[in-house]
Amino acid sequence: MRFFTTIYVLLLIYIVTALLFWGYNLHKQSEIIFDQQMLHLRTQMDSVRDAGLYAANIHDLEDRRSRRRKQYLGEGSTFLAVIFIGAAIVYSSFRRSIQLSRQQNNFMLSVTHELKSPIAAMKLNLQTLEKYSLDEEKKGLLIEKCIRESNRLNDLCNNILLASQMEGRQYKAVKEQVDMVEQVTAMMREYQLRYPARFDTSITVTEATIFADHLMVQMALSNLIENALKYSDQTIKISLYSSGRYVVFSVADTGPGIPDSEKSKIFRKFYRIGNEGTRKTKGTGLGLYLTSKIVHQHKGKILLKDNQPNGSVFELQFPLV
Ligand code: ADP
Repeated sequence: MRFFTTIYVLLLIYIVTALLFWGYNLHKQSEIIFDQQMLHLRTQMDSVRDAGLYAANIHDLEDRRSRRRKQYLGEGSTFLAVIFIGAAIVYSSFRRSIQLSRQQNNFMLSVTHELKSPIAAMKLNLQTLEKYSLDEEKKGLLIEKCIRESNRLNDLCNNILLASQMEGRQYKAVKEQVDMVEQVTAMMREYQLRYPARFDTSITVTEATIFADHLMVQMALSNLIENALKYSDQTIKISLYSSGRYVVFSVADTGPGIPDSEKSKIFRKFYRIGNEGTRKTKGTGLGLYLTSKIVHQHKGKILLKDNQPNGSVFELQFPLV
């Protein structure tokens, strides 16, 4: 990046210098033309005898010189403006593509880890089950762990698959009437079983029908819950309520929160706060990107606020039918 910036700046300096030099030469040529025309006029005319005509000719020459000056100054500054605008566009798109390739690289690093770690955990649990004759309670525990890991793997594959399908516009949303109360109740029942005592759920609406793709909505909601579980270890407040013509699903955690400078960036594809070497949590940077895409596809809104005294609140708003 630094090498590119140096070459780029040198090239820009060269172009601008060449342009200024070109402008200076044109100016000099115009002055030479003017001097020669004046000389020619003086040799052709008697400035005392034909004073009126002489003055008119001088005026004409000065007028032409001023028009020439305006022309090269105008053309030069337009050219300079075009060069600067073009240079700014090239530079920002190059920076963006470098950033994206860095994030893709991070994504590859973390996705490999994310895929490998549940597989390794499942393998270990299954080998333990195979080798030892354990009592029913321990067996149940290991099987439960395997199911949890395979669910994690399933969620991850779904996210990657949906992200690439949505990108290539291959995913056809199947929209139907979805009752958010039913969907959230069923989903929270599952989560409560998987993570007992981690949720405080409040559903203050009796019916909330939206027109949506059931699977996509499920993915958007669970991405927020998975993040809250990952980035905080305290109770997570889940709420479902209606507000005007919207039904609002909110997830409030008491984790580290998200700095203001990162709030708009975390919805970008592959974006993760910090850097791969120093980050403690693993992930792909796809969850929030997908969630916001899904919400916008459903003409909804996604809001992010600070929780008090610490943590974040993510809100998804879907229009009611
Ligand atoms: P992932 O969690 O796989 O990294 P996401 O797209 O879900 O990807 O999130 C992007 C980034 O936003 C995360 O890397 C994390 O830094 C930040 N983030 C998301 N949710 C939370 C949260 N509840 N608390 C703190 N940081 C969060």
